Amino acid sequence: MRIIVVQGDITDQRADAIVNAANSSLLGGGGVDGAIHRKGGSEILEACRKLRASAYGKGLPPGQAVATTAGMLPAKWVIHTVGPVYSATENRSHVLKSCYRESLHVADELGASTVAFPAVSTGVYRWPMDDAARIAIGTVRATPTKVEEVRFVLFTDEAFAQFQAQM
Ligand code: ADP
Repeated sequence: MRIIVVQGDITDQRADAIVNAANSSLLGGGGVDGAIHRKGGSEILEACRKLRASAYGKGLPPGQAVATTAGMLPAKWVIHTVGPVYSATENRSHVLKSCYRESLHVADELGASTVAFPAVSTGVYRWPMDDAARIAIGTVRATPTKVEEVRFVLFTDEAFAQFQAQM
């Protein structure tokens, strides 16, 4: 598997699947989530509502992942994963690792060969960027998968620099 790091907006990415840093409700939010729903259109929210009405009645727990259509986005699927909120007193890195592992597992089930990830948990959920970058790249490297390219798409200069530093 090839890992690449780029700076940009994940909603512009041509990839089989893009990963959404969702919240447990699956019904939209700010950051990446807001951008994906805005550009992808109502089809994604409809698919999320169906998931809430069926397998995920209580929402998607942190560390898990589930796929929907990508609507009008230039990707085939959106893989929604819920990162942990950062805590200075409790080590939740196993949950952040699980986001990357489970997203790749869903990508394998879909047959996706290119997957774009944002820096999960580093926005509203406040995970320090250097640690998030280390966990993201380390976990993807250590996860057996049929995915051929994992692309980290970083929005800010700082995120891009921190992810590059981990490569
Ligand atoms: P979380 O709730 O998991 O912290 P956020 O969406 O708030 O998720 O932020 C995760 C990361 O995504 C942050 O580093 C933020 O700067 C970045 N981000 C925000 N919008 C986009 C976008 N359109 N494409 C890629 N990354 C984005």
